[in-house]
Amino acid sequence: KRIPLIAGNWKMNFDHLEATYYVQKLVWLLRDARFDYSQCEIALMPPFTSLRSVQVLVEADKLKIHYGAQAVSVTTQGAFTGDVSADMIAHLGCSYVIVGHSERRKYHPEDDANIVDQVRAVLAAGMQPILCVGESFEERRQGIELDFAVGQVRDVTRDLSATEAAKLIVAYEPVWAIGTGMVATPDTAQQAAKAIRGDIAAMFGDDVSQTVRILYGGSVSSKNALDLIEEPDVDGFLIGGASLDPDEMARIARIT
Ligand code: 13P
Repeated sequence: KRIPLIAGNWKMNFDHLEATYYVQKLVWLLRDARFDYSQCEIALMPPFTSLRSVQVLVEADKLKIHYGAQAVSVTTQGAFTGDVSADMIAHLGCSYVIVGHSERRKYHPEDDANIVDQVRAVLAAGMQPILCVGESFEERRQGIELDFAVGQVRDVTRDLSATEAAKLIVAYEPVWAIGTGMVATPDTAQQAAKAIRGDIAAMFGDDVSQTVRILYGGSVSSKNALDLIEEPDVDGFLIGGASLDPDEMARIARIT
């Protein structure tokens, strides 16, 4: 059975002091609720500048939360001003790196080739990539949304080995649902997750497809999380706005 993953993508929010406050508050809320970490995994994805603060708290107090970065360089070291390597991220105790978020595809020149290299860099450093895919409103209007999302996964994963593919986490995040309050219906999320899982099965076999966690992202909140998580192929969430409130994050984790 796949353990659900609730990942908070902070995007460009919170400095390291705010991050410290946030983690303490979240962990306190979960402790107060006697949260069972064996039933649901929680991960925080802060900006690079807060990773060290999160690491120090997690290690000092043996907290059962995971964390990771929001993007990574495709190179290992050298003259790449402003970049951060996968090893640097891994050495901070990170478990995950978000790869190919639609905001990165839009505001940075991240194309499929670059995203493939990021996935490889993350895997080589012993972490798991959270690969983001999802159609825009235009593809949905044309009725090609499932092919589009499945194609995005396929384009990035086609050269991976089955062992590598089994480490993948996919986040289905329709662009029209991100930050808009227009959450996908449970059925829409399920259709996409099922189609993606089916294609992973076709490429890498049933074992891999049953191992890979497929998250839904886009206007997730404590109001819609329960209906979404009841879908058989939805294995958790990548949460933006709502994850910035530790109370919301704790509520969503408890629902899941
Ligand atoms: P929102 O939850 O704010 O819609 O953002 C989703 C997202 O982009 C997570 O990566």
